[in-house]
Amino acid sequence: MSNQHTTKLSDYTSYPFLIPKIYLDFDIRSDLVEVESLMIIKPKLKESASLILKGNQIKLIAISINGNELNSKEYRLSSNELVIYNTPISEFDLQIIAQIDPFRNTSLEGLYLSAGMLTTQCEAEGFRSICFHPDRPDILSKYTVRIEADKDLYPVLLSNGNKKNSSNLRNNKHRHEILWDDPFPKPSYLFALVAGKLKIVSDKYFTNTGRLIDVKIYVESGDEKYTHHAIKSLKKAMKWDEDVYGLEYDLDEYKIVAVRHFNMGAMENKGLNIFNSKLVLADSETATDDELERIESVIAHEYFHNWTGNRITCRDWFQLSLKEGLTVFRDQSFTADLHSYGIKRIEDVSFLRNFQFAEDKGPTSHAVKPKEYIAIDNFYTTTIYEKGAELIRMLDLLLGKEKFMRGINFYIKNFDGSAATTEDFIESLIKGAYLDEQNCPFDITKFLNWYYEPGTPKVYINQQWDSKKSILNVSFEQKLPSDKNNENIEMIIPILYSCYSRREGGEPLAENELFILDSNKKNLQIRSLTPEKDSPVLSIFRRFSSPVQWESNLSIDDYLFLALNDNDYFSRWDSGQVLMREIIKNRIKEKCNYSLENRFINALKEIIKSLEINDSLFLSTLLTIPGFAELESLFEIVDPTNIYKQSLNFQVLIGNEIQQELRVLSQNILVNVDKQWPMGKGERKLLGTIWAYLALAEDGNIKRTCVEAVNSSSMTIARAALAALKPLDSPETVEASNLFYDLWKENPVVLDSWFSYEASRPHSNGINVVEKLLAHSKFDWKAPNAIRAVIGGFSKNIESFHSLDGQGYLFMAEKIIEVDKINPITASRIVKIFSKWKTYIEKNKEEMYKSILKINQANISSNTREVVELILK
Ligand SMILES: [Zn+2]
Repeated sequence: MSNQHTTKLSDYTSYPFLIPKIYLDFDIRSDLVEVESLMIIKPKLKESASLILKGNQIKLIAISINGNELNSKEYRLSSNELVIYNTPISEFDLQIIAQIDPFRNTSLEGLYLSAGMLTTQCEAEGFRSICFHPDRPDILSKYTVRIEADKDLYPVLLSNGNKKNSSNLRNNKHRHEILWDDPFPKPSYLFALVAGKLKIVSDKYFTNTGRLIDVKIYVESGDEKYTHHAIKSLKKAMKWDEDVYGLEYDLDEYKIVAVRHFNMGAMENKGLNIFNSKLVLADSETATDDELERIESVIAHEYFHNWTGNRITCRDWFQLSLKEGLTVFRDQSFTADLHSYGIKRIEDVSFLRNFQFAEDKGPTSHAVKPKEYIAIDNFYTTTIYEKGAELIRMLDLLLGKEKFMRGINFYIKNFDGSAATTEDFIESLIKGAYLDEQNCPFDITKFLNWYYEPGTPKVYINQQWDSKKSILNVSFEQKLPSDKNNENIEMIIPILYSCYSRREGGEPLAENELFILDSNKKNLQIRSLTPEKDSPVLSIFRRFSSPVQWESNLSIDDYLFLALNDNDYFSRWDSGQVLMREIIKNRIKEKCNYSLENRFINALKEIIKSLEINDSLFLSTLLTIPGFAELESLFEIVDPTNIYKQSLNFQVLIGNEIQQELRVLSQNILVNVDKQWPMGKGERKLLGTIWAYLALAEDGNIKRTCVEAVNSSSMTIARAALAALKPLDSPETVEASNLFYDLWKENPVVLDSWFSYEASRPHSNGINVVEKLLAHSKFDWKAPNAIRAVIGGFSKNIESFHSLDGQGYLFMAEKIIEVDKINPITASRIVKIFSKWKTYIEKNKEEMYKSILKINQANISSNTREVVELILK
């Protein structure tokens, strides 16, 4: 039913022209912007060819080649292309004068207006809304950009690269001009321009070789005081990349601009990063510890792209994970180095399981390297980013740190200044690591299946203890969900394992050994050097060594043992998660396993006693139940309301059973709670967890404490207090929420968290609440953060959103259609909340289907249509 254009990887052909140099001239006027482009074009072929340029909503004024204006027969202009016939066979200048209207552009792509300032977003295909250009990532050019504008309205004029000069116009003292030059060739998606009334906060960074880099953050007036965390984070990232990867920053200045209306988190434009303001403006009074850490990691992520993404870019958008997977891996390693490897790993795995595994189970599941797409904007997914990062992590483990680094450096040296593919990356990584591909200890073709095959692979593990020989026999079997015809597609699955003796004080039988599952079935034998009476305990997929799901015949006793004793953070945490999943699953099936629940609660008490205040952050993760999406994925047929109720009941039980221990614990950690981030963050997190359980245990004192804590000078504490009161239908919840609103109503970034809180709180009349929030005087329809907070937030009010009369779904559908009219990229992301419709119980399924049809029948953008059609398939 769709007549949309599908782009296929197999159709890739190289562009018949090179464009080594582009001069762009922007004349910003009151109602339009005139863009003059001069491109130096080198034909690759020796015969005359048509030059095809993309263009979207651009008014063409004039075209000339080598100074001669073309007549209308020499080119053809359609709604999305400009084709110039019979171009010269040797190098020529192409000059195009055109006009665009950024003032009425609500898509937040190309050049657009955000709170009085002009800004750009070009990735993936926004540059074609600025000027006629091939707009594909394999065309790399050096850019020189002149910007001219009114001095009062646009005192700050920015573009990529280094500033050459700036001056007032001689013939008009109200206007000024500035010239930017970027000496490094880049693809058009990395182009950026910003013009507006901005304040600047500057700092300096000296590289290891002694070069001075000017660091500049541009924000709206009044926000200067919130930039220190961002600057510190940037300088840490610059240092880390030099120390760990040997990569130094290459331009003389590094600029970051904070923008309120932004579709993404942030954008790595060469030398001029543009950030969603919520990822720049923060201190411990306005942002939680988690948010501070996220800002630190996003700033690092965009900075790291300077080499992995910008200096070496993607040949085409099918290679998106080449830059994103690698750069996510780099930012994850950065955070792990700065804070705690073990905790970071748990957070990343938890995210992967709740979002990427969920994506793999649904209709929008795709490979890390997809074969085709309609709107590339729909492929900025957790599969490309987070699963992509897991593939790099497996290579790091398989190669070992030293060889991995050698491989990365070899890749960077060989592909600097060019556009590469994921295969180029893997080949060159292996070549650099082993000097010769023949020496690689695993089959590279099998590893590449990780890029080509969609879905989460499954591993089945069966262990048998041979007590006579003291040998643990373990059999492994791998199965890919995409292998529907049983072709036995094989992957390289690295499995890091240990094996513990159950004997008190017993030596481990194996410690952090690597087993490579490289065929469909493979066996492993673990021998004990001393006689063991009882079967030892296997700890498997330590550090989450492969992004797979696994099933094993490990017993409840084994998991309890590991939850108490495993020395790998991830495996210890995961064992507790396995038990909690089992308990909640039984409750949902109305088959409560009381003995398991008792043993688990006792284990928790023991863990609290043994870990106490030494590692509060870890203790807090051990006490946290699995996420909602992860719980949904346990069932073939999902009853969302019941999952919500039963997981809440289980938390009430924990709260009731361990309240004494929690009260003692909360007293012990108080001394550290007021320390400045990153210190004290573990204690603050743990305090939040304790409050949540005690509030569920109806502890009246805690409820009062939480209301008072909303006033705290630490945003982490204030938000932890709100979170603890959230599931309750209590006057304290309302009081705390109102208090928070009054405190923060003038700060839009913080207020988004209040919008999200109110929209997702389990109000019984959720639709009315959300209607009121959308009509609220502080709600900004142009800000994707606000839209996601309220509309996205509503989907987390499980009982209202999933109400059996279908009203929640219908309401959501109507709102998505409205959002799509102004911002297709945001709408196409939100619509994915309907992607699991087929997995729900009959009544929910029927109602959700009706709502999806409603969206499908509306006049929607091609971005949203692509997702909706996939969902309906
Ligand atoms: Zn990125």
